[in-house]
Amino acid sequence: MKTKNLGINTICTHVGEVEDTQFRGAISPLFMSTSYSYDGMDAKRYPRSFNSPNQVALSKKIAMLEKKEAAMIFGSGMAAISHCLLAFLKKGDHIVLPQTLYGGTYNFVVQDFEKFGIEYSFAKGFSESDFRSEIKPNTKLIYIETPSNPLMKVTDLQMIATLAKEHNLISMIDNTFASPINQTPGDFGIDIIMHSATKYMGGHSDISAGAIACSQAHIEKIWATSINLGGHLSDYTVWLLERSLKTMALRVKAQTKNAKKMAKWLEKSTLVAKVYYPGLKSHPDYALAKKQMKGFTAMLSFELIEEINPVEFMRSLQLVKYSMSLAGVESTILSPMETSHALLPAAEREKQGIKDGLLRFSVGIEEVEDLIADFEQAFEKVKIKEIN
Ligand code: PLP
Repeated sequence: MKTKNLGINTICTHVGEVEDTQFRGAISPLFMSTSYSYDGMDAKRYPRSFNSPNQVALSKKIAMLEKKEAAMIFGSGMAAISHCLLAFLKKGDHIVLPQTLYGGTYNFVVQDFEKFGIEYSFAKGFSESDFRSEIKPNTKLIYIETPSNPLMKVTDLQMIATLAKEHNLISMIDNTFASPINQTPGDFGIDIIMHSATKYMGGHSDISAGAIACSQAHIEKIWATSINLGGHLSDYTVWLLERSLKTMALRVKAQTKNAKKMAKWLEKSTLVAKVYYPGLKSHPDYALAKKQMKGFTAMLSFELIEEINPVEFMRSLQLVKYSMSLAGVESTILSPMETSHALLPAAEREKQGIKDGLLRFSVGIEEVEDLIADFEQAFEKVKIKEIN
């Protein structure tokens, strides 16, 4: 198959498949074998960790989606992050990270880096000078997350890539919140793109996986550390992930369209104090998001007015699930204070601007009228309680 200039749905559906040469089936056959004949094989490339037939095929799809040379698949987003950072950072090295980070990444850095003798700094804001001022002679990598979790702050991809190149550093992004449908950071020169594939890539809240896309040279380094750490994904789940990716563009585009409508609707509500969505003109990063994103993500956050108890509100929703995680086809809502950022000290949450009443809404594929009706009935319930 010619793979040049393919449309996004064609890449999602067709690229990176295992060909069924035996029965000519329409989908990839699944190879569960953990043992293969080694006759005539390079022992270093024996298929098992990260290179079984299904993993190799799926890596091609992910690499093409992120417009990179190569990719690797991991057992979770955290496995992708930890294997990759440990591949590039050694004792005495330093990394610059953003002020707001996924809670698990933050915990990995502050709890485990000391054991490896790796130094780190958090940029105080999102501007060029905020990142530049944290670079030290031993800095090796700049890591970003944009749009950020949960406040949807947007970091300038071009600026980070340029800054990293100027100092001979590797640039790495957690692209989970955007997905390759809404943002391809390689277009702006970012070196390494990471996904919690548990989220939009999986899309049905039933897969735990991670992915990294980058140059072949970087993959070689990540590979060397990863086979020692061993966090590859089981082949059955690789196969499920390939199936999920076939509909990723359809799902994410529908979710993003809904999110924009919900953000606008929430912004007009008198019961909502603030909406954080980069696709709203009122968002401070709207212009930047428009420049570097293809779509504005299907994630948004909002704060209710103080009179409304956010937990009561979430419990009153009937369609939107009050649950952890994000990016499934079903809409979900959570309180970062209770979940994703629960392990952060309150002072750190406050520093990052994460108020206790903040709610993070992962918008699904339901009809937006049904989502609005659900919010309306929940608002009605909590309002009545407040008055009584
Ligand atoms: N990055 C982001 C932005 C996330 O939201 C998450 C999980 O919620 C992760 C990374 C970690 O991914 P996983 O749960 O697949 O380990």
